[in-house]
Amino acid sequence: MTTIEAAVFRGAGQPIDVRSVELAPPGRHEVEVAIAAAGVCHSDLHMVRGDWEHRTPVVLGHEGSGVVTAVGDAVTSVEVGDHVVLSWVPSCGECRYCKAGRVAQCKTSQQVIAAGGTLFDGTPRISVDGVDCFHYLGVSSYAERAVVPETGAIKVRSDAPLDAIAIVGCAVATGVGAVRSTAQVPAGATVAVIGCGGVGLSCVQGARMAGASRIVAVDLVPAKLDIAAQLGATEIVDGRSGDVVQQLAALVPEGLDFVFDAIGAIATTEQAIAALGIGGAAVVVGLPPAGQSASFDPLSLAESEQRILGSNYGSCVPHRDIPDLVDRFMTGELDLESMISARRPLSEASAALDDLASGSVLRQLLVPNPGLL
Ligand SMILES: [Zn+2]
Ligand SMILES: [Zn+2]
Repeated sequence: MTTIEAAVFRGAGQPIDVRSVELAPPGRHEVEVAIAAAGVCHSDLHMVRGDWEHRTPVVLGHEGSGVVTAVGDAVTSVEVGDHVVLSWVPSCGECRYCKAGRVAQCKTSQQVIAAGGTLFDGTPRISVDGVDCFHYLGVSSYAERAVVPETGAIKVRSDAPLDAIAIVGCAVATGVGAVRSTAQVPAGATVAVIGCGGVGLSCVQGARMAGASRIVAVDLVPAKLDIAAQLGATEIVDGRSGDVVQQLAALVPEGLDFVFDAIGAIATTEQAIAALGIGGAAVVVGLPPAGQSASFDPLSLAESEQRILGSNYGSCVPHRDIPDLVDRFMTGELDLESMISARRPLSEASAALDDLASGSVLRQLLVPNPGLL
């Protein structure tokens, strides 16, 4: 057992407790990682607000990077000292979705890791005062160290700065993947992105890398629209200036080929569908609270041969896509720094989530081990 500092969440309405917890050594197929940086994401906020059910207590954080500090007997893909980016869908390799290459849909990962809050053997490695403490999506990166499944620790090149690449594991893989893998946006397509947080800005960058002819960024915060323009948006729509669908129609009267809803609110999903042109596809990337319904006009959908696509984790294949995204960052094709608005100590986890909720910040990084950077 190692004693580490971690951000423990006990239930909606209760303060996040940054405190000492016990971490057991990695099992045979598991890896221990010293966390260099952890991104603060809306999925953590959904947990804290009680939008999604989860077993508690739980250590938050599902995006991160770090250095491998220990490996289990059966681990072959990484060794001590390797730099890794953490993936929140560690795959089992055996279920029908893994075998079909759709590893972001791994059934075992959904049932055991996501729903159970444990690692693949059905038990957690974290405890608080002798009581089991659960993992969040097999990552729990708001901590000095984490024990994760081997398939959740993706080896990346060691010359990439460890802090910036933390966001590749969730926001960037999700946003770029939604464009490249889920929607397969071709060169010349017209694209709109609703919501310019970490995922939306990654959709903008994915659309630029795909060679989209027009990229319209939509948000309510002017500073986020400015960054979207820096990252490749060709036009911007300020949602406070009037109806978003009408503003998009004024810019692209024939309707858009692809609209990405990077918010996942009912209103934005409905806007994404309503703004499509003939043959267009609306892609739901942002995750809404559980149990909601959106509406659309099915006659228009049929007549105009439109599609509604769901994208989970950007349909990514972490071992293929995460090292590739890190390479694109190192060549300058992908801009990560412009998406990061703050680096904060682990003790500020709660304040960072409050700032994310206010809508005024982009990606914030928690830095549990400043010495690793
Ligand atoms: Zn996330
Ligand atoms: Zn699987």
